[in-house]
Amino acid sequence: MNWRDAAACRSEDPELFFPIGEDGLSRQQIEQARAVCRRCPVLTDCGSWALRNGERDGVWGAMTADERRRRRLGRLSGSSP
Ligand code: SF4
Repeated sequence: MNWRDAAACRSEDPELFFPIGEDGLSRQQIEQARAVCRRCPVLTDCGSWALRNGERDGVWGAMTADERRRRRLGRLSGSSP
């Protein structure tokens, strides 16, 4: 079974996971998306996939695009995530 089959966001509006920014009014949307991710049984699989594949947009594994970018940069520079 693919991890996506168990995704909690399957029953949510996909737009919720793709805010137009990461500040201002988008913060509330991001927190709503994170709330879904936190009860998702495949949160770790999803976040790992997004990091591995360089997913540039949206909330994946409760992480925003900026958070994933910072993690990737931290790994490249050898510092902790
Ligand atoms: S962690 Fe979030 S974005 Fe990923 S599958 Fe689960 S609900 Fe969807």
